[in-house]
Amino acid sequence: MKHTSCWKKQNCATKKKLEIFFPKTQGVQEMVNNNGINLFYNSVEERKMCCNIRKVEPLNRALAGASVWITGLRSSQTTSRHELPLIEWLPEKQLIKYNPLLHWSYDEVMEYIQRYSVPYNPLHDKGFVSIGCAPCTRAIEPGEDARAGRWWWESSHKECGLHVNK
Ligand code: SF4
Repeated sequence: MKHTSCWKKQNCATKKKLEIFFPKTQGVQEMVNNNGINLFYNSVEERKMCCNIRKVEPLNRALAGASVWITGLRSSQTTSRHELPLIEWLPEKQLIKYNPLLHWSYDEVMEYIQRYSVPYNPLHDKGFVSIGCAPCTRAIEPGEDARAGRWWWESSHKECGLHVNK
């Protein structure tokens, strides 16, 4: 199984080095030359193109040949995630997708982090409940939807495409 991420390097059970996947230079260059550096603010289509080149394509390369994909998806993050299964077979990727945190609340995750001293992104303490790329993420106000800070200028489509099954 590929090992592409680890919360806590020093306690990583596999002791394997992290394997990093970058977006393809050619794709990013062409996109920025054709659409500008801030293309994601132009339209949903251009924003999705950016997500596809910078996130989805590298993820698909990282998952190629893997047998299991373990995610941090939680059902309370968005309405579109309410119906997600705990485990599913993805025929297009030929692997099992496992969402072990699916029924955890945000508070339960934070409580676990505190209890076991799990390293976490300090932006969570500043109102960033869902964290994406810098130009596309802002902190949320109390009472706002958890995904309100992602692509806040869009009224819907609060997904980058990483978890959209074909
Ligand atoms: S979140 Fe924003 S910057 Fe990041 S890949 Fe998507 S559109 Fe591009």
